[in-house]
Amino acid sequence: TPPERIRNFCIIAHIDHGKSTLADRMLQETGVVEQRQMRAQYLDRMDIERERGITIKSQAVRMPWALDGDGTYVLNMIDTPGHVDFTYEVSRSLAACEGAVLLVDAAQGIEAQTLANLYLAMENDLTIIPVLNKIDLPSAQPEKYAAEIAGLIGCDPEDVMRVSGKTGEGVPELLDRIVELLPAPVGDADAPARAMIFDSVYDTYRGVVTYVRVIDGSLSPRERITMMSTRATHELLEIGVSSPEPVPCKGLGVGEVGYLITGVKDVRQSKVGDTVTSQARPATQALGGYKDPKPMVFSGLYPIDGSDYPILRDALDKLKLNDAALVYEPETSAALGFGFRVGFLGMLHLEIVRERLEREFNLDLISTLPNVEYEVTLDDGKVVDVTNPSEFPAGKIAKITEPVVRATILAPSEFIGAIMELCQTRRGTLRGMDYLSPERVEMRYTLPLAEIVFDFFDALKSRTRGYASLDYEPDGVQEADLVKVDILLQGDTVDAFSAIVHKDKAYAYGVQMAGKLKELIPRQQFEVPVQAAIGARVIARETIRAIRKDVLAKCYGGDISRKRKLLEKQKEGKKRMKMVGSVEVPQEAFIAALSQD
Ligand code: GDP
Ligand code: MG
Repeated sequence: TPPERIRNFCIIAHIDHGKSTLADRMLQETGVVEQRQMRAQYLDRMDIERERGITIKSQAVRMPWALDGDGTYVLNMIDTPGHVDFTYEVSRSLAACEGAVLLVDAAQGIEAQTLANLYLAMENDLTIIPVLNKIDLPSAQPEKYAAEIAGLIGCDPEDVMRVSGKTGEGVPELLDRIVELLPAPVGDADAPARAMIFDSVYDTYRGVVTYVRVIDGSLSPRERITMMSTRATHELLEIGVSSPEPVPCKGLGVGEVGYLITGVKDVRQSKVGDTVTSQARPATQALGGYKDPKPMVFSGLYPIDGSDYPILRDALDKLKLNDAALVYEPETSAALGFGFRVGFLGMLHLEIVRERLEREFNLDLISTLPNVEYEVTLDDGKVVDVTNPSEFPAGKIAKITEPVVRATILAPSEFIGAIMELCQTRRGTLRGMDYLSPERVEMRYTLPLAEIVFDFFDALKSRTRGYASLDYEPDGVQEADLVKVDILLQGDTVDAFSAIVHKDKAYAYGVQMAGKLKELIPRQQFEVPVQAAIGARVIARETIRAIRKDVLAKCYGGDISRKRKLLEKQKEGKKRMKMVGSVEVPQEAFIAALSQD
């Protein structure tokens, strides 16, 4: 297809504002999916996505659309992931498009995530088509929200389209407008090939399927291609377009969007943001914007049943094929046994991975408190990267830095005070504030990532009765006054509970953990002190009092088989006990203490 006939776009929307429903409707209107094959949310393939209503991986669909009296165009719809942990993938999807449909629920208005992605699209010079969705709802307020959107992108409220993905109203007009308003792709057809990878998905049968947008030149089947970041070369076994099922083709030229199959088995060999070129006639310069995924949040993952460890290892190896951002290494804990220290892009990524491990591999897991990556500089100048509290150096510390994020919060203006208070307790710095309308405000903060990791979103929601939305992106590091707090049972450190926290919060953490463990650990034959300490300095202390517990005493005079049963039961119970020094701790106590309530 010549570039003049191509339009590449994505849909920017907040979760639940109706992106999948609208996409379904477009597939139907353009006739690429027949009515009888249609199932809801056709493009959301992963079970977790479907159940949680989120899109984790972006995909592309090619749809024909005829404009009255002007013949047929090819529309490529590039889906964007909808969550804050995947900002980089969103940015690559945007970079593959000339325009974006800004889709906003007409009963809700724009949300922080959408706003952040809108700014990203505007920075990339994308043409924005503003659209209010769900106008069929009785609670829709299209006038109000059209004015808000018009103010944000600087257009006339009249230019904000009104559609309903549910009834289909306005959808053909939207497809027309995409053709009319979006620029056709431009590129040099005679130059060496350059295609940008905007997604890369592992498929059990086909290996890695790489989605690309061709910028210059062309790619054809059977030629050898080079990944410019690694210089790795592969034979192009198949090249094609998704409409939405894969259809092999004879090649992709300037502006086209499609998939490549090379037989590689690991998405790490086909990284989002990388440039694909041809080995025979390679481009000299890669496209800009390539970044390696960087894990931001770390947590220990342990099987509750220690014998599941090999299953966990295999499961991580499998997930990794599909997830270039997932990193892990083996780790042992005195309290939890054998497990892995795993790095994630953020909390949602952590939850998704954990849920997939539990669901797809039938594992019961316990995860330790998530932490971020710290850089510790010692007095002697040595620098240590800490992704696990146990790596925290013991020597004299000159400086510690922690990652910070730039956060955007959107909320009704009545909650400004509550939000400021929350951000203050989380060590935030207000960077700016703008009113989108008299009732709605955008607040910008710099916050330590570690503070966001600990239930920030829940706290924000509960203080704003669910009305606030949040988006954030990494924004470098800052120096901070941090300490490592250890929890000790009878003088022995319980590694799974060590945490790196701000000095002002160390005491609260220590008291809370010691209190929890006192409740959860059964009495022993001897008194057990539970302490929280910073180095050698104890900051909190509880005591589990001694008890003499003779199970057989209860069966005095009872028959011998009952006694035996009791003894066996006790033995059974012992297996699930972990020894910390000379203290017996039921594994349940660790699990309960680690679960965030
Ligand atoms: P996504 O998270 O943006 O992909 O949103 P979905 O397409 O999954 O839609 C979220 C919810 O809104 C679902 O319950 C849809 O049925 C509903 N929905 C989507 N579009 C419309 C619409 O135009 N009108 C109404 N009334 N409901 C809609
Ligand atoms: Mg969806």
